[in-house]
Parts: sequence; structure tokens; C-alpha cells
Amino acid sequence: MHTDLVAALDIGGTKIAGALVDGQGRILVRAQRATPAQKDGDTVMGAVEGVLGELTASPLWSGVEALGIGSAGPVDASAGTVSPVNVPGWRGYPLVERVRAVTGDLPVELIGDGVAITAAEHWQGAARGHDNALCMVVSTGVGGGLVLNGQLHPGPTGNAGHIGHISVDLDGDLCPCGSRGCVERIASGPNIARRALENGWRPGPDGDASAAAVAAAARGGDPVALASFERAAQALAAGIAATATLVEIDIAVIGGGVGKAGDVLLAPLRAALKNYATLSFVQRLTVTSAQMGTDAGLVGAAAAVLARRGSATAV
Ligand SMILES: [Zn+2]
Repeated sequence: MHTDLVAALDIGGTKIAGALVDGQGRILVRAQRATPAQKDGDTVMGAVEGVLGELTASPLWSGVEALGIGSAGPVDASAGTVSPVNVPGWRGYPLVERVRAVTGDLPVELIGDGVAITAAEHWQGAARGHDNALCMVVSTGVGGGLVLNGQLHPGPTGNAGHIGHISVDLDGDLCPCGSRGCVERIASGPNIARRALENGWRPGPDGDASAAAVAAAARGGDPVALASFERAAQALAAGIAATATLVEIDIAVIGGGVGKAGDVLLAPLRAALKNYATLSFVQRLTVTSAQMGTDAGLVGAAAAVLARRGSATAV
């Protein structure tokens, strides 16, 4: 008998994952489909229904008490709709209503994927035990979420903590979001790679021009690769410092593919933070790597819905 059994969905631009998760964060059943991201909205929903169908077919399903959904954003938790940037067929798509058509009367909680990962890091990862934390995903985009006063802070629409679209360069490059000089426009993986290429870095014989390849070159001492990571670190540091100054976080957790660059990113980030986080109450701010793996989105969606029900002890 599993107490506090919940279902979780993690919806992204490349895959749709689902799981049944118990009150300790253990994944008991899992299902997954590729996201048909370039198809129409109902075809994408068909993949979600396929995942839900596998979960509801489990003998454990009758014990499921609620469903948490973490989705690529923007989401609108108050309306139950999602508009993921990388899924053009979903614009204001009524995801919660469509999920309820499958799951019936179960309580459903919708949050953005950055918020979900934050819930996971706070429950079982690097932000565990921290009452005020910013968790970030630095990869194709830059997302994030906040823990304030010991609780996940999704905000009214489920997007709070979306640090990737804070402007840190007032007259900087246009961002796809419409603003200028956003953290994401400077620090995302594609922008790290783009800047390195623009400044003369060239990929090796394998032709790999990804941020991971730039990180490998930086580790080997390539000055252009190092400079591109330093610029990304500077943007992240300014965004983290602004957040800390506003709401007094004491830890920033960095995850995502670019976060895997480790000290190539974290060393200049910690150095830059000294330049931006200057007031006495933010000087003890620490920056660390995320600990949750590829299941962070699922565990976080479960954590968020358990917390709403008051049953995830550590959330
Ligand atoms: Zn932006």
C-alpha cells in the first residue's frame, strides 16, 4: 500500500513523460512518448493521452490521489492552459480540461517546468533544507523557479522565477520574447555557441558546435570559448544577484545541459557574483550544481501537487 500516491506529467518539446510517484518521491510506474512538436495541437494531445492511458492501465491507478503537470512554458495555471514556445500547435491550449477528460475528478495542479524542477531540487536535491532558493535550468533556454519562506512559489499563473527573461543588458540583443538583453539571450547553450563562433572559435573534426563542445574547448584553455562562458556566467550572476536582492534567497542551484559544464561555468559565475551581489544581506549567497537527474520534472510535478495537498513532508 503506497500512501500519497500521485500521478505526474512532464511535458517538453522533445518528450512527454508520465509516472506514478509515491510520497517519498519514488517512481513506481513510468510511460513516455516523443512529442510530435510540429504537429497540430490535438495530435500533441494524443501523445499525452497515450502516456495517461498507460498510467491509468496500471493496477496502482485506483490509489492515485492527484495529478501534477509540469509543462514547458509559458503556462497559465489560473486558466489551465499552456503555450509552450517549442510546440506551436499549443497556444492557449486547454491542457487541464483535456487531461481531466481522461482522469475524471482527480485534483490537477499545473506548473511551469522551471517551477517543477525547483520543487524537485527543494524536495530531494541541492536546495533541500533551504527556505529561500532560486533553481535554474540553463540549456536550450533558461528557466527557473523560486522557493520562498520554505514553500514553492509558482505565482498565480505558475511561471514565477522565470529568470531567463530578466533583462541584464538594457540595450542588448533582441530576445525572441520581445525584450532586450535577457539572461537567456546571453547565457543559453545556443547563445554560448553562437558567440564563440562569432568570435572565431571553430569546432573540432567532429563538427560539434554545441555549447558542450565550447565547454570542452574552454576546459582545454581556448580563450574564445572561455570568454563565451564568462559572458554567460556574468549574465547569470547579474540575474541571480537581482533575485537575491529582491527576495533574499540564500542559494542558487544551476541545472540543465549547460550547467553540466561544471566549473567552466560555475567558477566565473561565482567570481561575477562578487561584482553584483554586493549588499551585506546577499553576500553569503552560494551557487551550486543541481543534483536531480532526468526525472526532476516528474518528481517536481509530483512534489508540487503533494505540497498543495499538505503531504510532501519536505516540500
Ligand atoms: Zn527574453
